[in-house]
Amino acid sequence: MTELFGTNGVRGIVNDDMDTDLALKLGKAAGTWIDNGSVVAIGSDTRISNQMLKNAVSSGLMATGCEVIDLGEVPTPAVQFYTKCRDDIDLAVVITASHNPPEFNGIKCVNHDGTELIDWMEEEIEEIYFSEDFRLVEWDEVGRVRSDDALKTYKEAVKEKIDIEAIEKESPVVMVDCGNGAGCYVTPYLLRELGCEVITLNAQPDGSFPGHDSEPKKENLQDLVRMTKQTDADLGIAHDCDADRTIFIDEKGNYIFGDRILTLVAKKLVKENGGGKVVTPVASSTSVEDVVEENGGELIYTEVGSPIVARKMKEVGAIFGGEENGGLIFADHQYCRDGAMSAAQIVEMIVKEGELSKLVGDLPEYVLKKEGVHCAERLKEPLLKELKKKFKDEDLDDTDGLKIYYEGGWVLIRPSGTEPKYRVYCEAEEEEKAEEMVGSHKKIVHETIEDMDQLYDR
Ligand code: MG
Repeated sequence: MTELFGTNGVRGIVNDDMDTDLALKLGKAAGTWIDNGSVVAIGSDTRISNQMLKNAVSSGLMATGCEVIDLGEVPTPAVQFYTKCRDDIDLAVVITASHNPPEFNGIKCVNHDGTELIDWMEEEIEEIYFSEDFRLVEWDEVGRVRSDDALKTYKEAVKEKIDIEAIEKESPVVMVDCGNGAGCYVTPYLLRELGCEVITLNAQPDGSFPGHDSEPKKENLQDLVRMTKQTDADLGIAHDCDADRTIFIDEKGNYIFGDRILTLVAKKLVKENGGGKVVTPVASSTSVEDVVEENGGELIYTEVGSPIVARKMKEVGAIFGGEENGGLIFADHQYCRDGAMSAAQIVEMIVKEGELSKLVGDLPEYVLKKEGVHCAERLKEPLLKELKKKFKDEDLDDTDGLKIYYEGGWVLIRPSGTEPKYRVYCEAEEEEKAEEMVGSHKKIVHETIEDMDQLYDR
């Protein structure tokens, strides 16, 4: 991993490790990296610090001669779609910290085709950033900012892929919780245009997140769960702050975990296409593999991280991909997670195929357990080698960390990318078995760390 960019851009606490100096320098570095006179699109989510950081990045870009197109507050996938559609744009920047708390913000770079930058590109920008070898232009070549609307074409592109007639006929009632994020500008309007009756929650853009924390986890969506039930709505929908992820509540008010929706959409698309490739990280539920293979498709596993999934999809010509956190990627639309497209697809599905609870209930089901074990950074790499030795006689997959397949389940042991931790995931058919497996493997990881610690201290 690069020093500055994490798996999803640069992130930090505003005016602490994410400040105007960093943003300005990153703007100059990105502008130096692409050609003089390039066109760069920039957008942000609804965080309070978005103007501050956007202006700093834009200043840096203009100092290197770039023309900047300001798209305002928009979902990340809308910036990505705009960039993909315009031939004259060489790079895009999104000011967002996705689902993180309000004091955080971040900077993420998008390639000319709308996909996230790949590692070597980020490394090159970082090299310029740290060397401060910026290529500043003469006074009369400095860039300017103009603004443009990215939302109209984005919404139209989603609508093109959806059966509007079918939705209009049923006119489903949909509760939308925008979490005061960038989804406020798209999802309620889009769903109304598709023929839904929309009731909104937290649909005023507000970077202090007065409604609830931005991560669309179950405990943050209790109002949506209650309101979906009380209003007798057909569906509840929630996004994170930059609206690339979508979580659903069924018509009974049940919170549906992201891996269930991932499985549901994979099943539908593989069935419709009479096969095709689907891409997901090794941490995803076996239910995805089950439905893809059952319907004549092929499942390809990757490391954890949505840009990695998107890249793999493009490389192998997959029809669909995504993660268990509600990030779905539809290849015929664009190679990135798209919250509005996910919302529209599920609405279409319930009007055509019936209630969400029933559709989800028909899917194969497993129990997933996740635990964390503290592990010092210096031990992360050697630990993985040690564990590989310990489990060498088992059925292994080392795509990301170590996945061990057992009869009726699997265990995944992988280092956290952001914390001094190892994560132990376990999936099995029964609760008891999952509990027992996650416990026993956590113990093995813990003991191995202790043994190594002693060895390293000697
Ligand atoms: Mg996000």
